Amino acid sequence: MKKNMFIKGVITMNKIPMRELNAEERTKNFDEVNLGYNEEEAIKEANRCLQCPNPLCETGCPVGIKIKDFIKEIKGKNFKKAAEIIKQDNYLPAVCGRVCPQETQCEAKCIMKNTPIAIGHLERFAADYEEKTETTIEKNNKKVAIIGSGPAGLTCAGELAKAGFEVSIYEAFHKPGGVLVFGIPSFRLPRKTVNKEIDYIKELGVKIVTNYVIGRTLSMKDLQKDFDAIFVSTGAGLPHFLGIPGENLNGVLTANEYLSRVNLMDANKFPEYKTPVKVGKHTVVIGGGNVAMDAARVAKRLGSKVTIVYRRTQNEMPARDEEIKHAIEEGIDITELTQPIEITGEKIVQGIKCIKMQLGEKDESGRCSVSKIENSEFEMECDVIIASVGQGLNPLFLRTTDIERGKKGVVIVNDNLETSIPCVYAGGDVVSGASTVINAMRDGKKAAKAIIEKLN
Ligand code: FAD
Ligand code: SF4
Repeated sequence: MKKNMFIKGVITMNKIPMRELNAEERTKNFDEVNLGYNEEEAIKEANRCLQCPNPLCETGCPVGIKIKDFIKEIKGKNFKKAAEIIKQDNYLPAVCGRVCPQETQCEAKCIMKNTPIAIGHLERFAADYEEKTETTIEKNNKKVAIIGSGPAGLTCAGELAKAGFEVSIYEAFHKPGGVLVFGIPSFRLPRKTVNKEIDYIKELGVKIVTNYVIGRTLSMKDLQKDFDAIFVSTGAGLPHFLGIPGENLNGVLTANEYLSRVNLMDANKFPEYKTPVKVGKHTVVIGGGNVAMDAARVAKRLGSKVTIVYRRTQNEMPARDEEIKHAIEEGIDITELTQPIEITGEKIVQGIKCIKMQLGEKDESGRCSVSKIENSEFEMECDVIIASVGQGLNPLFLRTTDIERGKKGVVIVNDNLETSIPCVYAGGDVVSGASTVINAMRDGKKAAKAIIEKLN
């Protein structure tokens, strides 16, 4: 039975749930799991919005979408207008509607504390509904180069192109999109959704040059000769390693490599596509973030039994609740309070030795400390191990420049996201360390604003 509640005399119900593919069926393919709202469901959900005079939800959106206004248009069945309102502030709404952690951002600020409006679901609905619109742009003959085509680079490019700049994005891989295409699997974020939004940015006049590694193919100094400003958005794609014995055995991969093989190189369709990937009988994934969940769910779809090993409990996992829920529904086992200490085998992985952990006091950040339980070692048999224990910055480009860097190598920027080199700006994971899509987009937007002010 649905729980009703009264707010200022309005009866509101729980969120309208989003339809999903059945858990058993979906583990056999890479089809999108969430099916989106239909018109009736979207209007019902929009009708729960109270249209607050002072909409707190908007303070929780890093790119400042006019949430109240777009929801009002959905209420009135003006879906195209709703999409237009979102696009004023967000160049990748269909992406954000799918992968943003709304539960800790806009939805966390909604005044309906227990049953916040499903802002992400409504954003996705409007973005998917959107029809093509023509944009006329007056050129200003100024040129900007962007290094990296992830959400930070794409957003910066879109803003600058709309303001009349000639923008070229240089991307090391053969496909643009950054983590949106090589990290997040298609069952969470279909490629056609990402491509549609990238096409929109291209239609604004942005040139995207792929297979182009800045720092190798061209240096930043080369770019400085040809462009009035540069935006560095090279992300944090360098995986951390486990640092335990046996890590070099055949069958141990990082989640970055595993996911890139499948998402970017179609290894799931080997031998039709040339890149292979090892499919284990039992795959152990180490970590508790979105990346670990994605790797585990891909391994499941490839036909492996999958266990996630995490040193704290499910409650402390940094992954989105929805990802954890979907992983469990799909039959993935989560072994909590467990830390790997050694990978066993001769040349090839045969198992993993672990030790049990216990939670201690909360530290200043509110996170519980963990410690080992003496004499609790045990071994699990497995033939593939995927390490997902964090990422650092890709050093390839940064090593070739004098840009000032800080702790953990992140690029240091001022309030306008300008680096120590004038007219060279930076944003996204290369500045913040591994973060979120929407935070990278917020930086892209902020840097574009600063570049426009400086060059105009
Ligand atoms: P990236 O997306 O990393 O893009 C950087 C681009 O720069 C890449 O395409 C790279 O090839 C290119 N590049 C690097 N060096 C060079 C060079 N020298 N020359 C040219 N190009 C170069 N966030 C969420 O909000 N929700 C999620 O559900 C979520 N899931 C995730 C799942 C996975 C598997 C991963 C890895 C991350 C996930 N994140 C998620 C985090 C989010 O994707 C990142 O924070 C975001 O993509 C960062 O954007 P960015 O533009 O800074 O960098
Ligand atoms: Fe609607 Fe919640 Fe935003 Fe108020 S805070 S306008 S109820 S989404």
